Amino acid sequence: MNKYNICLLKGDGIGPEIVNEAVKVLDCVADKYGFQVNYDEALLGGSAIDAKGTPLPQETIDKCKASDSVLLGAVGGPKWDKLPGKERPEAGLLGIRGALGLFANLRPAVIFEPLKSASPLKDEIIGDKLDVMVVRELTGGIYFGERGRREADGEVEAYDTEQYKVSEIKRIAKVAFEMAMKRNKKLTSVDKANVLEASRLWRETVIEMSKDYPEVELNHLYVDNTAMQLVINPGQFDVILTNNIFGDILSDEASMISGSIGMLASASLSDSSLGLYEPIHGSAPDIAGQNIANPLATILSVAMMLKYSLNEPKAAEAIENAVNKVLAENRTPDIYEEGKNKVTCSEMGDLVCKALA
Ligand code: NAD
Repeated sequence: MNKYNICLLKGDGIGPEIVNEAVKVLDCVADKYGFQVNYDEALLGGSAIDAKGTPLPQETIDKCKASDSVLLGAVGGPKWDKLPGKERPEAGLLGIRGALGLFANLRPAVIFEPLKSASPLKDEIIGDKLDVMVVRELTGGIYFGERGRREADGEVEAYDTEQYKVSEIKRIAKVAFEMAMKRNKKLTSVDKANVLEASRLWRETVIEMSKDYPEVELNHLYVDNTAMQLVINPGQFDVILTNNIFGDILSDEASMISGSIGMLASASLSDSSLGLYEPIHGSAPDIAGQNIANPLATILSVAMMLKYSLNEPKAAEAIENAVNKVLAENRTPDIYEEGKNKVTCSEMGDLVCKALA
């Protein structure tokens, strides 16, 4: 029997509630597909500041590194908002990504059929199905390049530098090509090669790599055009490959097509099979502790973990199908629609388990 060790970083606000439901579902699917999951817990964010005086204790890094994968709820809240940048809960989030070498961020933009009406796009634009995967480089580019302020022509000038090494481009492109191979074998690489030298190297490198993936249909789009195409014809995309800054913006745009923040999962991957899986939303302090948060983004993050880190693709698919089935009749308050059953966070977890049986 396969055994997996998962480190849980429940975090703050609704974090513990939604992670508990995701664990419930992971246990159900493990039972059904015959594997075992052991859990360890560690502190991150505000809860770590309160208990240990730092948003990212060394013990948390050690526990994450010793696990097969990490499931994170969310961090942050008004209690810690006045702390200086490096001491805030969000610093723990950036710190753990760096400590685990997570260089690839995967953000699926999927529309679940029962939630089609929540999308800001018209039905005819969405078409039959919308399922796009944005693969974003996470540890390079302008967010990590040389920056500063200097005197220029008698006034202050600020600068940030976009920079990529061939090896950095190759490693993220490999993730995107492999992803395309597992999906519909279509890859769109996004750049601004008409203006930026770093983008020209990006494009050359991706073209060179495409020789190793002859089955993948590769095309290139400028980032401004991609932003437009996502809202006028999103069905043309399968996998989108982008650098850090373009991916930051495009992944938010792509994910909003689904229309509800409580449904969106994400994964951050490293060179090894260790990944960190989390919903894209925050700790929602306004609804914390009321058992009304939507746990589906976290449950779907578990499905991504099963697919990309634990090699249990059937179990992953079963969770996605169960979520689709449950949504036909049941909604947490954030996605409630007249005529459906309004359910709590824990009831939603129970219903997904029941649909898996
Ligand atoms: P948020 O995503 O927490 O909440 C935005 C709105 O969406 C709120 O009205 C909230 O109630 C609602 N919402 C979010 N998730 C929901 C869910 N699962 N079910 C139902 N409703 C949900 O963003 P915010 O209010 O800007 O930030 C709150 C805190 O979270 C801040 O401290 C912020 O720094 C932090 N944050 C953390 C992460 C993370 O941990 N990855 C990401 C974003 C924000």
